[in-house]
Amino acid sequence: MEELLKTGARVLANEPMASHTTLCVGGPAEWYVEVDTVVQLRAVLLAARKKSLPVFFLGWGSNLLVADKGIRGITLRLKGDFISVSFEDSLVRAGAGVFLPTLVKQCADKGLGGIEPLVGIPGTIGGALIMNAGTRDLEIGQVIKTVEVLNPDGNLELLNHDQIRFEYRASSLAGRVVCFATLQLRHQNKDDIIRSVQVFLEKRLETQPISNMNVGSIFKNPPGNFAARLIEQSGLKGRQIGQAQVSPKHANFIVNLGGAKANDVKSLIELVQKTVAEKHGVKLETEVKMVGL
Ligand SMILES: Cc1cc2nc3c(=O)[nH]c(=O)nc-3n(C[C@H](O)[C@H](O)[C@H](O)COP(=O)(O)OP(=O)(O)OC[C@H]3O[C@@H](n4cnc5c(N)ncnc54)[C@H](O)[C@@H]3O)c2cc1C
Repeated sequence: MEELLKTGARVLANEPMASHTTLCVGGPAEWYVEVDTVVQLRAVLLAARKKSLPVFFLGWGSNLLVADKGIRGITLRLKGDFISVSFEDSLVRAGAGVFLPTLVKQCADKGLGGIEPLVGIPGTIGGALIMNAGTRDLEIGQVIKTVEVLNPDGNLELLNHDQIRFEYRASSLAGRVVCFATLQLRHQNKDDIIRSVQVFLEKRLETQPISNMNVGSIFKNPPGNFAARLIEQSGLKGRQIGQAQVSPKHANFIVNLGGAKANDVKSLIELVQKTVAEKHGVKLETEVKMVGL
């Protein structure tokens, strides 16, 4: 603890992860640490290494199912310099902690388009890069020019787009410490961009259970099919374990009706996988990341 406090980072002991995940599920992070600068980040990682503490990088917590027992070691959140954005012509450099919907709107205000389909993804740039977050219209990897990662030796390394592999909801950045990214956008008419942003947001409101606590799609779409369709055809819409429920609005969402436990959600995920495998012979792979489960 003393080592961590010396770094100048904000440190909280036993911080409930339910307050930092969009599903509002998860027990305490042993050490919840917020850093503002690369210098602090380096110092915290060094302190963690000295004490042999594992480090978990938390974005917006919008793709996480955290165990009820919580997370051992350090849960690290990037703030300060990591939530800054700068513009140079049609290039945008954003910290890994920047909230993606805010970035889309900031770019729209500057007449920079090309990332409107990402406006409804409630995650950070860092989380989006690890997941190659996206929609049918656009994945973040498509607009990335460079990414700056912190190497184990404490230096920032600049990776070009062609040094990174972006796949469906995965990227080769997994396991790296993502600090900043530069996106290549286009100059466009501001009103057109804002209209397009509105359309993408309205489409989501129609189809997704936004008013409930959730983590977006629980499963990846299997090749040539849709997880939601398979789950619905298996008669699982509305199925409930504890306070976790397969959303009646969108079958690939599990919602927390209030006070759901991570184990309820996990059991429901396993029930869906088993039922879909029996009825359709398809193994559904999770998109949500399980932490400590
Ligand atoms: C209502 C709703 C709608 C959604 N819609 C979509 C959608 O349309 N498309 C889509 O792809 N996803 C969607 N999601 C899922 C989620 O928003 C994305 O996966 C998002 O990119 C996760 O970002 P995050 O910052 O919340 O990451 P987290 O969930 O906090 O973390 C995800 C992973 O990234 C790692 N990570 C985060 N930051 C860093 C960093 N700086 N360095 C290293 N590792 C890091 C974490 O350790 C973890 O492994 C949706 C979620 C919700 C709740």
